[in-house]
Amino acid sequence: LYVDHPLGADQRVSLTRDQAHYLFGVMRLDVGDAVALFNGRDGEWQTRVGVANKKGGDLVCQVQTRAQVGPPDLWLVCAPIRKERLSFMVEKAVELGVARIVLMQTDFTQDAKRVRLDKLQAVAVEAAEQCEALVVPEVVGVEKFSTLMGGWDAARRILFCDEAAAGRPSVLPDVIAGPWAVVIGPEGGFSDTEREVLQGLAAPVSLGPRILRAETAAVAALTVWQARLGD
Ligand code: SAM
Repeated sequence: LYVDHPLGADQRVSLTRDQAHYLFGVMRLDVGDAVALFNGRDGEWQTRVGVANKKGGDLVCQVQTRAQVGPPDLWLVCAPIRKERLSFMVEKAVELGVARIVLMQTDFTQDAKRVRLDKLQAVAVEAAEQCEALVVPEVVGVEKFSTLMGGWDAARRILFCDEAAAGRPSVLPDVIAGPWAVVIGPEGGFSDTEREVLQGLAAPVSLGPRILRAETAAVAALTVWQARLGD
């Protein structure tokens, strides 16, 4: 379970109403039962339920079961797509070990105004809990493509996924450690101007000869990156 609270020996962690509902209402846990906690900073701790009631309660830290490790310094930079598909993309990106998800407004982005960052962040929390990550990636944006790419830090290498690059021999990036970003366009793809800007920052890579939906492209590209450079 993810908590926004310091973790350490004998530390008591109070639960929100939603967490108490989940642990005591849905999971039917009771006083003395074990719960694993993480907060993105202090590793994973085994705790026991101290107080349990429907509206709240607390957990008491006992022993650290995993030291803190972060995901690799990999971002997913993508344009908002339709709600369910964007939730899917965030969930899978967290499972595939990104450190940050940056949403950008591109020329052909449709749904930027309807983005609910709080909901997407909740999806990221649930995905991190499910896959036993020790960090919840932040979901940020929506940033303008021109601002984001105009101020791009050259030290962060880009895996620019471009369906127009089909036929290239390999999508695999060179094995270069350090910060990376997988960049995926919106449902309508990147405009010619955006493609030019991106080509100035990175060579376009293909994920195969078919045109993938943005969320499929994100999963495929992150998998390729992890297979090559992940740890
Ligand atoms: N241009 C098409 C259109 O008009 O709908 C498709 C864009 S595609 C749905 C969205 C994004 O997924 C693209 O901008 C690109 O980043 C990525 N993508 C899709 N298929 C790809 C492929 N075969 N290789 C590399 N990237 C791909």
